[in-house]
Amino acid sequence: MAQNTFSIAIHGGAGTILKSQMTEQKEKIYREALREAILVGKEILERGGKAKDAVVAAVTMLENCELFNAGKGSVFTHNETHEMDASIMEGELLRAGAVAGVSRIKNPIKLAHAVMTQSQHVFLMGEGAEAFAATVGIERVSTEYFSTDFRRAQLIAIQNSEKTILDHSPTEETNKKRGTVGAVARDRYGNLAAATSTGGMTNKRFGRVGDTPIIGAGTYANNQCCAISATGWGEFFIRGVVAYDIAALMMYKNHTLKEATQIVIHQKLSMLSPIQGEYGDGGLIGIDYQGNIVMDFNTSGMYRAALREGGAIEIGLYQE
Ligand code: ASP
Repeated sequence: MAQNTFSIAIHGGAGTILKSQMTEQKEKIYREALREAILVGKEILERGGKAKDAVVAAVTMLENCELFNAGKGSVFTHNETHEMDASIMEGELLRAGAVAGVSRIKNPIKLAHAVMTQSQHVFLMGEGAEAFAATVGIERVSTEYFSTDFRRAQLIAIQNSEKTILDHSPTEETNKKRGTVGAVARDRYGNLAAATSTGGMTNKRFGRVGDTPIIGAGTYANNQCCAISATGWGEFFIRGVVAYDIAALMMYKNHTLKEATQIVIHQKLSMLSPIQGEYGDGGLIGIDYQGNIVMDFNTSGMYRAALREGGAIEIGLYQE
């Protein structure tokens, strides 16, 4: 790949995404949402914009789409509230910003970006993050803005249990889809960036924080190796320090992005001890310093799209 070309990839969550459970109409809607989001990022990169701005723009678009579990359409906690997490990292100077447990920020990824660029901190949570948002002009909305009937039905289905789920669907069988969103990009100057945003898991305890806002777990970027945005059962991704583990395998063991992802997603994740009998699952998108893209998962599907400069948009939902 030529040195001055750009690439971008996005995801809308991994999980039990089966063609047999998808209607043609629904599939079309998901594909269209992914196409629109990647095009927003592409336009920025095409006119010489930065990777970090492209990932924020693409993730913002996905947060605004209620199909996905981030921003509008976020899942409910056990207490019937929304607590959203997001983070961003740029690979040139290893700058990062993250927020956890915000409930009135229209686009948590914009707040994470503001933490990175307009504060001395990396990670703000809850009320403090909301107060910071007010000082930097980040849009706040009422908590009802995030609620959808579909997510409420999901919560009601399991609210009386101890179970937490990450799915789009109210039935146990199809409760394995994740709707977290993310983007990774390489700009024309060779800079990498990654951004991830989520509503977390349905029926989670209030105060629970997943992997998404944790730098090195759900998000990581370093121009020397790769940018990663993950989706999946966050507790496992935190324990596996997944995003950084891939970077480390590339830097210290000279693995390619593809090899490192294969090791982490298909071997290391499943070696972590199970939680209530279930093993960690999920996936990630990654881009290396040369612009090569990986979109890998150990679930039946992951909403995803990729684009390399001059090429066509590649959109996928299921295992190939
Ligand atoms: N990783 C997210 C979390 O555990 C959930 C997801 O990817 O859907 O909060």
